[in-house]
Amino acid sequence: MKIPVIDYDACEGCGTCEAMCPDVFKVQDDGKAYVINAQACKECNCQDAADACPVACIAMQEE
Ligand code: SF4
Repeated sequence: MKIPVIDYDACEGCGTCEAMCPDVFKVQDDGKAYVINAQACKECNCQDAADACPVACIAMQEE
């Protein structure tokens, strides 16, 4: 199973990933999105959120 990994330098904290997969991503106080539960997004495996990220900073990697 692939899990999302965020490039924190590139993340702009737009919240798109959190809006799509709120159980997986959470934008924290520092304005960066963090993976809070990589296993939670069973249906899309977070690829949809990765594709929707405006700066393409979500990579899907094998565990
Ligand atoms: S969609 Fe991309 S830029 Fe926006 S908060 Fe998520 S990881 Fe960051």
